[in-house]
Amino acid sequence: MKRQTDNRLATRVYSYGTVPARIAPVNNAEAAAGQLRLANRLWNTLVAIEHTRIAAYRRIMFDEHQERINVLREQLDAFRTEIQARRKAARAKRIDTLDLAEPIANAKAEMSALMVIQKETRQQRHDTKRTELTIVQERSNRRVKKARQAAANMGLFWGSYNDIVQRMDAGRKHHGELGFRRFTGDGTLTAQIMGGAKVERCVGGGNHTFFQVDGATPGQRWRYARMRIGSNADRSPVWLGIPIVYHRELPEHGDIKSVSMSRRTVDGKIRWQLNVTVNTVAPVLKQGAAIGIDIGWRLLPEGVRVAYWEDEHGIHDQVLVARSDLEQFGKVRSLRSISDRSRDEFLPALVEWLAGRELAEPWQQRTSHLAQWRSSDRVAELVRWWSDNRLDGDKEIFAAANGWRRQYLHLAHWWRNLQDQMTMRLREQYRVFAANVASRYGVVSIESFDLRNVAEKPQPEEESGIVTQANTYRQIVSPSMFRGALVNACKREGVEIVTVDAAYTTRHCHACGHMDDWAQAESVHHRCSGCGSLWDQDRNAAINILRSGMTKRASSSAVTVLP
Ligand SMILES: [Zn+2]
Repeated sequence: MKRQTDNRLATRVYSYGTVPARIAPVNNAEAAAGQLRLANRLWNTLVAIEHTRIAAYRRIMFDEHQERINVLREQLDAFRTEIQARRKAARAKRIDTLDLAEPIANAKAEMSALMVIQKETRQQRHDTKRTELTIVQERSNRRVKKARQAAANMGLFWGSYNDIVQRMDAGRKHHGELGFRRFTGDGTLTAQIMGGAKVERCVGGGNHTFFQVDGATPGQRWRYARMRIGSNADRSPVWLGIPIVYHRELPEHGDIKSVSMSRRTVDGKIRWQLNVTVNTVAPVLKQGAAIGIDIGWRLLPEGVRVAYWEDEHGIHDQVLVARSDLEQFGKVRSLRSISDRSRDEFLPALVEWLAGRELAEPWQQRTSHLAQWRSSDRVAELVRWWSDNRLDGDKEIFAAANGWRRQYLHLAHWWRNLQDQMTMRLREQYRVFAANVASRYGVVSIESFDLRNVAEKPQPEEESGIVTQANTYRQIVSPSMFRGALVNACKREGVEIVTVDAAYTTRHCHACGHMDDWAQAESVHHRCSGCGSLWDQDRNAAINILRSGMTKRASSSAVTVLP
């Protein structure tokens, strides 16, 4: 089989979210706000220039054919409106519109004939109007240049104004007309890095003057990323710093081409996102044996199974998160339930106390449906706000509330730390497994990404109605984190990933091909009703995935490098 051997450049964008401001603030948010305002103003100026250009273009190109097309288009719209109106009046879909069928067909036929003519004469019509069109285009180019210079003079950093002009060009080519945007405080700032920058110069103590990501701090899941948004008088950088969750490494030998930071307001909360555009040399695919991996968790007596694999030599095993590794999870749960209980004891007292008084507007707003609140964070936040908005005679109840809040924050800090530790341990286990797979195999088959596949395997307890902590288990063992580690390792090592359709992997017997329908929850094992063989359901899926992957690969010359 022919293998890919060329060193193509692959461009990828790596995105990172931020932690809330109460955990770590955005540094230099005011300077960023000023840049965002200028960026928005430049965008709208460019949209106005573009609208003027389009209007001038249409004026120049207007002829009798175009005039007739416009008339026909209006007629068709009117017919459609008429049909809708009749349907509405009849309150049904099947009503008589036969009388309109002929005029509609006529209008459509005439219009498409005219459009064919317009298309065929396009080049010629443009050639005759060339001088006028060139004048319009040049005028528009001059206006764009002026707008860009004006934005630069007002202090918009060059990465951002270049990016806006480029986005405008791309938008014009792909989406037709572009719209104005109201300034809400949100938007995107960009730092372009001329000639690119090696990842190691930017990450973990790098000294690059456009983009930096701090190293990890033990026990803390966020770190600052800084992007240059301007220059001081001494030419040193003005940084915008946001507290990102660096959930995946930038590729070691990658070349960073540009960096952007976007501000979005969702449900009244401000969130930033970091996007890093990186060029990597697409790795040369390596030769090697094939393996199929079924991802999806299942609770077993000895721990939580997160995947099952089988290779083409028949070697197979499960990936298990051991009970002992999940023990802290029990501790987390008990800390959470202590804190929930104390909230449920304290909250009714507060509700009752508040019920007996006349409350001002902000208090009413902030305490509506208080009795139903289930989020301790929300209650704690209310108490914090209360300390600045005290009520008459609240000394005792406030002291109780504040006591609860202190205890809650202490417990929450404790269990979040425990949870972070567990997550880090798991991530390490997954990385090691993924690195092993990537070093031993040449082709890895997995199911195409589908949230249902990384959700839980059915549990017997659930069917019998016993409440489980199913969701929480899934969050902890995180099959999607497992998949991410696997995909990363394969890409790094040039291992080919083949994704297969999930539809046939679990119901078909690998031994005889018979399709069975059975209660998958009852046991991890199943006896095929076609051939009578007994197998582990997840191993059966892994074998089917392995085979589908090999078939898919053999039948297509185009090799899937990325899922
Ligand atoms: Zn069978």
